[in-house]
Amino acid sequence: MGTVKDAIVQAVDRLADELDALSHRIHDHPELGYEEVEACGWLGDFLSSKGFAVETGIAGVATAFRGTIETGPGPTIAILCEYDALPGLGHACGHNVIATSGVGAGAALAAVKGQLPKGRIQVIGTPAEEGGGGKVKLIDGGVFEKVDCAMMIHGFDRTLLHQDLLGIVRVNFDYTGKASHASADPWEGVNALDACIQTFNAVSMLRQQMRPECRIHGIITNGGAAANIIPEHASATFLVRAPKIDAMWALYRRVVACAEGAARAAGVELKVTQRENVYEPLTSNPVLLDLFAANMKTAGLTEGEPIPDRLGSSDIGNVSQVIPAIQPMVAIAPLGTAIHSRDFLEAAVKPLARAGLVAAAKTMAMTTFDLLAEPALVDKAKQEFARR
Ligand SMILES: [Zn+2]
Ligand SMILES: [Zn+2]
Repeated sequence: MGTVKDAIVQAVDRLADELDALSHRIHDHPELGYEEVEACGWLGDFLSSKGFAVETGIAGVATAFRGTIETGPGPTIAILCEYDALPGLGHACGHNVIATSGVGAGAALAAVKGQLPKGRIQVIGTPAEEGGGGKVKLIDGGVFEKVDCAMMIHGFDRTLLHQDLLGIVRVNFDYTGKASHASADPWEGVNALDACIQTFNAVSMLRQQMRPECRIHGIITNGGAAANIIPEHASATFLVRAPKIDAMWALYRRVVACAEGAARAAGVELKVTQRENVYEPLTSNPVLLDLFAANMKTAGLTEGEPIPDRLGSSDIGNVSQVIPAIQPMVAIAPLGTAIHSRDFLEAAVKPLARAGLVAAAKTMAMTTFDLLAEPALVDKAKQEFARR
């Protein structure tokens, strides 16, 4: 078995230049969620050239893909890729590294296909992580129904086996009052902006009563038309995050109550629109994490200092609620670099990012190999998932 893993490591080393070039190409051509036509094509072509059967447009999502290699009846292990960019910033979340480490892991496994235990490896391209919920659409479309375990990595300023992700629900509040001259006839108006601002005040008070790991943040998207008109319309968007689904919905209801109370106080009408794409919290799976941790060492990755309060959200959380799934963080930027920043954007194509890409590809390929070699571990991962 050791020799197959050696061959996997060597295969990634041989592919490193090609993977790094692909990573740069995706970085140089940032595409927003559901518009990742080029990236989807390049990644699919790469997998085809390494022996994968590639389908694009799976589950009705044009820029999603699935590459499969099969060696006989056995477990199905999925490696997930992301490749969407951020508006105005490009690849400041380093999804170019997620994508290329994923296809790199797949290609390394394809290179040792003759020595692989029986089973199926799927490299799945999941669009629009940055708010569009590509994985939610793929889950709804049945893409994960026959997948036993899934893994992906995310670039970060340090390597961490597991980083909690919060569930997130998005909501729009639209307030409708009555316009009137703000100086001549203010008492004839009903001020929609008052209700909007009062919602922010009520939410600010609510923050003292919520647990510190929860997050509520919002912006005013419409604050009125002109200063000499009592605002007839006002709108706000809030994001509500919590580490457990029940707690997230409980907090969400309290935020909606803040808006309802504010609307009542100001005498305006309120429309509440809970947006689709609820991201669920990430669960952890010790079997998968233990395998990843052991292989990570072989690949030369060392865990960094935990940072339990730097909490984000991702649709990999939703995957982890339907099958055993993990998303370790891999260092691709200098310690202290914030993600979604211009510094992280620059770092995502530097030598440190290449090193992270290569080590992550090796680790995911070896972890996939372990699961195929010992299907009992897959069963154990599923038992842990059931007990979560
Ligand atoms: Zn991001
Ligand atoms: Zn990201």
